[in-house]
Amino acid sequence: MTKNKFNWQLPTHQSNLTNNDYIRYNAKLHCYEDNKSLCDKHSQDTRYFEDYNIDEFLNEHGEGYVCKSCLTRYRKLIENKSKSR
Ligand SMILES: [Zn+2]
Repeated sequence: MTKNKFNWQLPTHQSNLTNNDYIRYNAKLHCYEDNKSLCDKHSQDTRYFEDYNIDEFLNEHGEGYVCKSCLTRYRKLIENKSKSR
């Protein structure tokens, strides 16, 4: 199994929040590829921060806590990948 190169993470200044704080501050998860978020709003060195499992996260919290542009682009990228196989 190959690990995909996408990292779902909180923007750096919010990365030390716990899950509960996370909800309280209404922070959103962004999807990083090569240290840049797909929505172009954030960049950070993803080696130093915690990755979230996006599928589990969506099941638990729903899409309201995930950056919409990142999610839309991410799904498109994943889709293209499975098509080109
Ligand atoms: Zn984003």
